[in-house]
Amino acid sequence: MMDARPGPAAPPAPEPASAPEPSPGGTGAPREVVGLSREALAAALAALGLPRFRARQLWHWVYCRGATDFAAMTTFAKELRPLLARNLKVGRPGLAREQVSADGTRKWLLRLADGNLIETVFIPEEERGTLCISSQVGCTLTCRFCFTGTQRLVRNLGPAEIVGQVMLARDRLSDWPSNAPGRAITNVVLMGMGEPLFNYDNVAAAIRILLDGEGLGLSRRRITLSTSGVVPMIERAGAELGVNLAISLHAATDELRSRLMPINKKYPLAELIGACRRYPGASNARRITFEYVMLKGVNDSPADAKRLVRLIAGIPAKVNLIPFNPWPGAPFECAEAETIAGFADIVAAAGYTSPVRTPRGRDIMAACGQLRSDSIRPRKRAHHGEGEVERAAAAETAAAG
Ligand code: SAH
Ligand code: SF4
Repeated sequence: MMDARPGPAAPPAPEPASAPEPSPGGTGAPREVVGLSREALAAALAALGLPRFRARQLWHWVYCRGATDFAAMTTFAKELRPLLARNLKVGRPGLAREQVSADGTRKWLLRLADGNLIETVFIPEEERGTLCISSQVGCTLTCRFCFTGTQRLVRNLGPAEIVGQVMLARDRLSDWPSNAPGRAITNVVLMGMGEPLFNYDNVAAAIRILLDGEGLGLSRRRITLSTSGVVPMIERAGAELGVNLAISLHAATDELRSRLMPINKKYPLAELIGACRRYPGASNARRITFEYVMLKGVNDSPADAKRLVRLIAGIPAKVNLIPFNPWPGAPFECAEAETIAGFADIVAAAGYTSPVRTPRGRDIMAACGQLRSDSIRPRKRAHHGEGEVERAAAAETAAAG
């Protein structure tokens, strides 16, 4: 049975309308500042009769200092602060739940203004702290190994909701100001819920804000965009954003990849690998990451490893081997540790760094592919009997309680 949902290229659902424009007299609803480009922020302040340098000051308070209260913004004259507060606001996604794993990984369930829920994960390591953010509520794709893929797409996230995940995480980790040394969050990966390249405009707007050197100040080398392989948008992201690229590969033949990831039928391997070869800045210093989930008896044989290295031959790359993270009702098992080690050896012998990713936060369902907001009814899909999905949802509700 085919999935009844539209194919991968179907346009995602529209975002909700943005807040109304403020009126100079301060009678309209305050407008959200987070997510506005510098230009849009300057225009919003100009509408209040304020000169451009005020936008730069506000930008600093919001993105460097993490301030949310205009009363605390001391570079604005006292009389100015109420004018700002009447017309603008600096918000955050609502925090519905915070969980901390035994290994220190943190997961936040965030409630958006319209009640939808998304998840954001922080993974502390010795040398860095990585924040894994979501780009959509749910996902249009139905990769068979991914828990998010069991959830129907509800909508794209807007720039404020994407950037807001970083800001809320900074709040929770006491990680302001952005420009101080020793920040907890050093890296951001778009590897949470959703396919970022199906929400390109909002993701691009958010990345530009993350990259701003007078604000959140992340560098291109510390932001990674992960995609299931939306080929035309890979080229555009490379030309316009230049952040690190991660490709969810997971199989080295079209036959297997199309079974695991339906998007492969639209953009098969030859096109995907071609886009990787053309990705700007791909060099030994800026390698493309290929993600490869290790599924027992499915894609984990030595022959699979050899096909993989032949496929990516000549691309400056590293291969992240991700032990499959289970979820309720999942139709796969994780490959055996020795099998993964043997696979890694073959990839390494071909000259590619091939780290086996230690699963982080599995106990709180925070590991790769385990994110899903409990609020949303799972879709029915071909490889899930309906009963299975119902049981999965029941198990999840029980676990959450
Ligand atoms: N939609 C984007 C980004 C989110 S997924 C993408 O697909 O690239 C982040 C990574 O986790 C992807 O490589 C995804 O394939 C992988 N993944 C999904 N489910 C997984 C699971 N159950 N175990 C391990 N990795 C998984
Ligand atoms: Fe969507 Fe990525 Fe999960 Fe596939 S792996 S269903 S693209 S979130």
